[in-house]
Amino acid sequence: MTKLLIALALAAGCSFGNAQTQTYPNRPITLVVPFAAGGPTDTIARIMAERLRQSLGQTVVVENTTGAAGTIGVARVARAAPDGYTIGIGHWSTHVVNPAIYPLQYDVLNDFEPISLIADNPQLVVSKTSIPANNLQELIAWVKQNQDKVSVGTAGAGAASHISGVYFQNTIGVKLQFIPYRGAGPALQDVIGGQLDLMFDQAANSLPHVRGGKLKAYAVTAKVRLPAAPEIPTVDEAGLPGLYISIWHALWVPKGTPKEIVTRLLAATREALADPTVRKRLADLGQEIPSLEQQSPEALRAHHKAELDKWLPIIKAMGIKPEG
Ligand code: ASP
Repeated sequence: MTKLLIALALAAGCSFGNAQTQTYPNRPITLVVPFAAGGPTDTIARIMAERLRQSLGQTVVVENTTGAAGTIGVARVARAAPDGYTIGIGHWSTHVVNPAIYPLQYDVLNDFEPISLIADNPQLVVSKTSIPANNLQELIAWVKQNQDKVSVGTAGAGAASHISGVYFQNTIGVKLQFIPYRGAGPALQDVIGGQLDLMFDQAANSLPHVRGGKLKAYAVTAKVRLPAAPEIPTVDEAGLPGLYISIWHALWVPKGTPKEIVTRLLAATREALADPTVRKRLADLGQEIPSLEQQSPEALRAHHKAELDKWLPIIKAMGIKPEG
């Protein structure tokens, strides 16, 4: 009798679960951006959210949960109900770098269900326009002359913008002043406004302002030039060989989200990434879109794991301290 009751209860639970996944999504979905509005992650998230809405038939609300290099927003996703109504966007530094720096309450690899890689972009070395340098070598000479007072904006201790700045400072043998913000969006505004000198910023954020003449761009942190900005030399060409940093963005949901929902979100993501308007908007921002084979939970998990294996020892050796 007890067995029968348990069996009936399990069956009821299952059909409730199925009904839940069959009607998914029947209310708005939240996409958590762990950095400030207006920055690179936010920009990519908003392009995706707009197109995901069409595929999913529900509004995708972008929520900026900021602070501590994205750890606060990512923790919010880790703790959310695994029902498909909270999605997180993250990137190389939130899901690879942060565990080497912060005492996290979540496991970046195992507390999430991966959905897909969505876009990848290198960074640009940019400065305020009043710096009297016309190429990277002149910028390095200027930094060396002014080294005690050169200010560099970052999206937080351990954010991509910070890691590449540390890499730069160590390579050229200077000490820079890093100023943390809650995202690269507000930090870049202060470079444009002249309050900060430099930034190592994702192309998605700075490229529009470079085109508008509000920033100087010296190099791209990649082996090849950006198709969207072929006039900017690579770090190898500009004289800082090997400073390659590529910031890939991806989508995750909390661990335990039903497989059917992950599959639904993957289909919507693939539709978005196949849409010519989305592709053009991302490409104009210097984003490389992953191939169809790379657009899968398995490919994201494998890439994520390989990146953790590669970068954790390098980042740990940098000795970066968390934000206080
Ligand atoms: N992804 C950050 C932002 O959107 C930037 C960074 O990591 O440097 O602001």
